[in-house]
Amino acid sequence: MAWFKKTKKPIAAKTKEKASRVPEGLWVKCPSCAQIIYNKDLAASLSVCTKCAHHFRLTAAERLRSLFDGSWTEHDTGLRSTDPLRFTDTKPYKKRLETTIASTGMLDAVVTASGQIGGRDVVVAAMEYSFIGGSMGVVVGEKITRAIERAIAGRMPLIIVSCSGGARMMEGALSLMQMAKISAGLARLDRAKLPYISVLTDPTTGGVTASFAMLGDVNIAEPKALIGFAGPRVIEQTIRQTLPEGFQRSEFLLEHGMLDIVVDRREMKDLITRVLRFGAATPVEKPVEKAEPAREVVAKN
Ligand SMILES: [Zn+2]
Repeated sequence: MAWFKKTKKPIAAKTKEKASRVPEGLWVKCPSCAQIIYNKDLAASLSVCTKCAHHFRLTAAERLRSLFDGSWTEHDTGLRSTDPLRFTDTKPYKKRLETTIASTGMLDAVVTASGQIGGRDVVVAAMEYSFIGGSMGVVVGEKITRAIERAIAGRMPLIIVSCSGGARMMEGALSLMQMAKISAGLARLDRAKLPYISVLTDPTTGGVTASFAMLGDVNIAEPKALIGFAGPRVIEQTIRQTLPEGFQRSEFLLEHGMLDIVVDRREMKDLITRVLRFGAATPVEKPVEKAEPAREVVAKN
């Protein structure tokens, strides 16, 4: 039984709320410094706050646009998950896929493409966070593996931009297998003496961090990106200690030797171009499959 009961109806507002003359979505408020930014200005600065340099999250398409010189060719566009485990959590995975495909216009959480960066042919894979938290299921694993194979076949450097909550729970162990599959592919890329640049953006966690995101020849992160395996709460509960300030952020990881460089998004393309040029400065020979000569071991007394 309620203690108080409203006997009177609430007073209705007399006038309708004045219609805003500013069309919706024209301005964006920065969550970090509360600055109101004009949408076009934000787009011009690659979605980095012009006042405090807060990095807004990019979609996979925006990411590709920020990196490639001009147009690019997308690959393996038709791959989609078949819900192999017939998984249901709060709703059936099949339903979740359908609604996400409808809202994002994508079939899964990664776009792979080839094009040019700084005049050099490259293969780029960019992850899409709005597709079930950028999680890695069978399709993400397969598309990235094919991107690696494409890089090897065309003798092109590979760049993967991670933005992911980790392995996709709804595909269980099949998701976890992608970690090994992609890592094995990257080992082949390495044997072919082709560079792999890993770009870690906010957030890069779980199975993605634990596999390809940390395997770059060069690991580049955006400022203040959350990068880790388990979340801070889980770690605190396990080790029963308070975690230090800025734990699992790019700058902290750089300081502890987990990353090579943290760079503002507006300088990302220039940096990647320089890294690619650096890699190309040393002549890349075609890998020669050569059996290592059996070493003679002479016991000396
Ligand atoms: Zn700001």
